[in-house]
Amino acid sequence: MSSVASGCLGHFFLSVPDLSMTIALARRYRPRRFADLLVQDHVAAALRGAVAKNRVGHGYLLTGPRGVGKTTAARILAMALNCEHRPGDGEPCGECATCQRIWNGSATLDVVEIDAASNRGVDDARDLRERAMYAASQEGHHKVYIIDEAHMLTREAWNALLKILEEPPPGVVFVFATTEPQKIANTAAPVMSRLQRVDFRRIGPAAIESRLRAVLAAEGLEAEPDALLLIARHADGGMRDALSVLDQCLSFGEGLLNAERVREVLGLVGDDSFAAVLTLVANRTPGAVFVVMDTLVDAGADLTEFASGLSEVLRALVMHHFGVEAEAIPESTHAVIAAAAERIGPEDAVRMLKLLGEAEPAIRRSANPRIVLETLLLRWAMMDRAADLRAILQGLPAPAAPAMRASVVSGPAPIPEKSIPAGVPRKAPEQAPAGRPAVEEALPESGGVVECTTEALVRAWGSIVAAAARQSRLVSQALEHATPTVPEAGVVQLEFGRDSAVFREGVAKQIGTVETILGARIGDPVKVRIVERDTSVGSLPAKPRRISPEGLREDRLQQIRAKDPVLDAAADALDLELVDEG
Ligand SMILES: [Zn+2]
Repeated sequence: MSSVASGCLGHFFLSVPDLSMTIALARRYRPRRFADLLVQDHVAAALRGAVAKNRVGHGYLLTGPRGVGKTTAARILAMALNCEHRPGDGEPCGECATCQRIWNGSATLDVVEIDAASNRGVDDARDLRERAMYAASQEGHHKVYIIDEAHMLTREAWNALLKILEEPPPGVVFVFATTEPQKIANTAAPVMSRLQRVDFRRIGPAAIESRLRAVLAAEGLEAEPDALLLIARHADGGMRDALSVLDQCLSFGEGLLNAERVREVLGLVGDDSFAAVLTLVANRTPGAVFVVMDTLVDAGADLTEFASGLSEVLRALVMHHFGVEAEAIPESTHAVIAAAAERIGPEDAVRMLKLLGEAEPAIRRSANPRIVLETLLLRWAMMDRAADLRAILQGLPAPAAPAMRASVVSGPAPIPEKSIPAGVPRKAPEQAPAGRPAVEEALPESGGVVECTTEALVRAWGSIVAAAARQSRLVSQALEHATPTVPEAGVVQLEFGRDSAVFREGVAKQIGTVETILGARIGDPVKVRIVERDTSVGSLPAKPRRISPEGLREDRLQQIRAKDPVLDAAADALDLELVDEG
């Protein structure tokens, strides 16, 4: 942190006790030895080994995300090369005057730090080249150039550097650090081949959390586990960021550091907001989206943070469905996820994640992120559900229709290859219950108010079914198999034929949605009753049939269907014709 910045913070935190302690945290706990580099064991082993064996190269390229310790590693390397009493294992002592100076980033003759983001011109590179000609200040010392944000260097600068790297002066070491090695590969491919590349790993939230805990313990302070997890997640792999957020949180209050204080400092929203979103999705209440958005905006929540929090919650939800515990999720969020898992299936959570992924760049960039986020939540709330499909198919693996056919059909039977749109079953026309209105007679799709009488409903049914598709395609398809009657005022009875059991159950599971759809059309709330049409009523007693091959096959089919209700439902749902060649 520059002196200017800490000056500002000093003003800002004027009333805060322990200022010196908290501001110093990120700095105080920066590693001094290779072994202290968090989760970068491979880096530590490689660099320490090179120092110990006196085989340090002339150029290194340290790559990895922000905050993973690249610059720190470069400084430790410089310390190890110039330490006044370097032990044999390649680690610097960290205590001698030289180590201290390098670690502090103060000027030394032998270590030069350059921020390429501000020194990228060719003049600087020429200057560098001239300066590199001077050997280290003392016999046995190394001159180390640490170039941060190296991807910002121009092609000209790289060309100048290439000449040095082709014939490096003795004892000179260049360490380039970058988050974007690909850019360097594009602008300075020949240089890449002269550098030893060291890739740093991203530091996961769990590793950051445990490091924060250790730091707090060393300071004699305490925090709720959830508080540290929130910081760790927010830091997104950056240890330095995590420590400075911890600094801020400690500055803002005293006593046990809790999740609430962290949320305040970071402008994060609580789990109740995630819970509210998941509930409105589960209940399909798009109207609630506006309430949630108002609450977020009023609370001054950062909508980008909120979206990324949502994606973590959804990801954890999917993992929960597959029995995998998501890493580093606060205890309170676990409860939200467990509750949502009962109502939002893994397929739907994955679809929500996909929509979120598509919207996220727009949320980040838009001048009006609220609109983008609102639209996303509305789409979630109005989404068709995989659960509907399951309800309709009674747990059958419907989308895998071809596989099921193969197992049902024995022999090369002629199966009518009907297209089944989006894996949704359709009935053969002849199976449609008599008296069902033809779709052609339907009112215009947006149709007006329908009177709550049997006659009016029957007449308008086609348009009601079509309009329902806007709410849920699956409910609409199931309603197509129903015949409406109005046995008493305010009650709509939906009759399903025996062969439409799957659709009857599908509607039964979505009865609330169906009542909303019908109520909206009728203009008054209605109760929906579901009945199975008794096909035996009015029909003649079964006539003894003439024994024929067709008759036998039909009997056989009925037997199979009766024995296996799943098969029966599958045959209905997928329009299968059971063929028995034996
Ligand atoms: Zn030392």
